[in-house]
Amino acid sequence: MLSRKVLEVSNHPSFDNHEQIVMFEDETTGLQAIIAVHNTNLGASLGGCRIYPYAELDDAINDVLRLSKGMTYKSALAGLPLGGGKAVIIGNPRQIKSADMMQVFGEAVEQMDGSYITAEDVGSTEADMIEIAKSTSYVAGLPEIGDGEGVAGNPSPVTAYGVYCGLKACAREKYGDPSLSGRKVAIQGMGSVGYALAEYLVKDGVELFIADIHADVLDTAKDQFGQQITILNPSEIHKADVDIFAPCAMGAGLNDWTIPEIKAGIIGGAANNQLAEYRHDQMLKDRGIVYAPDYAINSGGITSVGYEYFWRTKRNPYSYELTHDTMMAHVARIEETLGRIFTLSDNKGIATGESSDQLAEEIFKARASTQTSVA
Ligand code: NAD
Repeated sequence: MLSRKVLEVSNHPSFDNHEQIVMFEDETTGLQAIIAVHNTNLGASLGGCRIYPYAELDDAINDVLRLSKGMTYKSALAGLPLGGGKAVIIGNPRQIKSADMMQVFGEAVEQMDGSYITAEDVGSTEADMIEIAKSTSYVAGLPEIGDGEGVAGNPSPVTAYGVYCGLKACAREKYGDPSLSGRKVAIQGMGSVGYALAEYLVKDGVELFIADIHADVLDTAKDQFGQQITILNPSEIHKADVDIFAPCAMGAGLNDWTIPEIKAGIIGGAANNQLAEYRHDQMLKDRGIVYAPDYAINSGGITSVGYEYFWRTKRNPYSYELTHDTMMAHVARIEETLGRIFTLSDNKGIATGESSDQLAEEIFKARASTQTSVA
């Protein structure tokens, strides 16, 4: 039997006027989940379901509060009629997960009455979303059905396109010219996004430097891109003598040790939570580095997932059709959004992470929830 309890955590250091924080438990499947809805001013909250073996309940609460807030900022800046939410399921996904548990989690999502839409995150997969979809329609990140109108499927290439567009805004800010042609770019992590980003950059005549901890992907890249690519050691890639450093692997790569060693004048990549601490935003500014805040430049993924949800559930909030082209045109606006972030940062003399937060807050705090809800 699924039980539901509203958590009273308004004194928690990560609490930020969250609208709802609900804990769900089910003895039969062992489900212990928390769903946090940070803000729905722009629409229903969308954010992944993280399945992780948190040591303490407080660690799970902290994560869900922090991550749901981050989604509000990301979707607002991406120009999506979506709010910020997140779910966590406590436990090791390899040990606790079952189809039944995912279906019960779907019931929990359904009980949020459309204020929260779930999707994949660390520990959850497309297969899990299929199980969740048996109990609720408030789920995104499902596999492409039919031709998917070109808006469903793997978001990584869309994220890569957004990063590519964002790097042009960075180049304009740094060099007064958005062209990437002839520039040197170092990509840290040649996974789903990094590899697709490399394809865009090579077409533009960029000289690439890449690193990954897995040799096979580097061999493939060498075969595909040939002379335009140089392979570097993963521990050295951030120090490469390049124009642009693109972190596309793990978070917290910009820290007290790496920042003084970075030679690139621009940092922009897909990795989430690139700054080890908030103060590193200012440290990058002090070094004269143009930093594209991660959640602003990597929002192609949430846009892709959002479009897939709007399309599949026929909850299209736009006056135009949801096609691959309209989705990519939406993602391309990352270039313009970053331009606004840089202008605000220049005008106010503040670091770009701070100006990005201010811009996002202007967007989501100004809107009333009834205007654009898509739930
Ligand atoms: P991925 O797992 O496909 O690729 C990550 C790559 O980084 C792998 O090839 C891995 O071997 C490599 N790597 C790991 N540690 C490394 C290190 N120390 N040095 C160099 N390479 C290393 O992941 P992805 O989907 O490409 O996502 C990359 C990053 O972007 C992640 O931080 C992810 O959270 C973020 N992101 C992804 C999307 C998306 O649509 N996939 C959207 C937004 C943000």
